[in-house]
Amino acid sequence: MTRTSRRLADGREIIYFDDTPQAPPRTAVDTRDLPEQAPRSEVRRDPLTGEWVAMAAHRQTRTYKPPADLCPLCPSTEGRPTEVPESSYDVVVFENRFPSFAQDVPEIPATVAGMPMVARAAGRGRCEVVCFTSEHTKSFGQLTPSRVRTVVDAWADRTEALSALPGVEQVFPFENRGEEIGVTLSHPHGQIYGYPFVTPKTERMLAVAEQYQRTNGRAVLGDVLAAERAAGTRVIETSEHWTAFVPSAARWPVEVHVVPHRQVPDLPALSEAERDDFAQLYLRVLRRLDALYDRPLPYIAAWHQAPVRTGRDLSWLHLEVFSVLRTADKLKYLAGSESGMAVWINDVTPEQVAERLRAVG
Ligand SMILES: [Zn+2]
Repeated sequence: MTRTSRRLADGREIIYFDDTPQAPPRTAVDTRDLPEQAPRSEVRRDPLTGEWVAMAAHRQTRTYKPPADLCPLCPSTEGRPTEVPESSYDVVVFENRFPSFAQDVPEIPATVAGMPMVARAAGRGRCEVVCFTSEHTKSFGQLTPSRVRTVVDAWADRTEALSALPGVEQVFPFENRGEEIGVTLSHPHGQIYGYPFVTPKTERMLAVAEQYQRTNGRAVLGDVLAAERAAGTRVIETSEHWTAFVPSAARWPVEVHVVPHRQVPDLPALSEAERDDFAQLYLRVLRRLDALYDRPLPYIAAWHQAPVRTGRDLSWLHLEVFSVLRTADKLKYLAGSESGMAVWINDVTPEQVAERLRAVG
């Protein structure tokens, strides 16, 4: 993998990650006349739950479902400059033009006016876009293993870089795929958020991991992994370094966890062999997911990484892939119980889903 960092017309960073050193030099200049963005994002802490909420009102004007010939993630062509100045690329990462978090946000008072119990802070972090291929109509599951490997290296590179930025407490690479998920651009891409706080989900998981470690002297996910591998009933793919299984208390109609056999805090800690092995295994998982309803499955793929400064020895990197699709054409909506009380009601058992995923693909 080779890496080249450049700047876009408005000063945002763009980084090319090429599969091989034989790629052409990435020297193309962004010719657009782009106004500088002045993100004004902020975060406020809910005084009842203790959870942070981000506000980014400037995002309302962002690009929404453009036609394919106006895709801002495709490479630039003569007379039609996009977000990517080069005429082709392998993997490219750039700062989001409409970020939820950014480095140059203005300072604000430490509490909400008239509400001293509500903490408030500038949304200081970073949001990046990751394009997995320059081919507009491809999907992640159609990438070659060597391209997936480049994506993994890009995720690891960005995790290290964002972790070193002032204010960033957790780095979250993810992919939203499909209109049902609310994707506004169909070009195969994901995002990376550098949050200015540890996310509520990660805080909850760290509290459980700490309690389990104190009681049993072992990592909870390590014990889950060993038990799932021994039971086998929910396992859908295994390899030397990774196992993919439907978790035994799955929330979503389709949910798969992809877990490395070795406890590592984050993507940069993965070995070369673990990264290569992940590329092969994850492609097999995605093929099964698309075969499940015999149509491209809308999904969210979410990397759970250790926070930058806390709980690193308790964390165990893993990828959670899940879908809102409960049949080929029926969506699960987050209704009263899920949205109001965070209690998921699942219409299928994890064992049934695992059996079907093993039978296809
Ligand atoms: Zn495109």
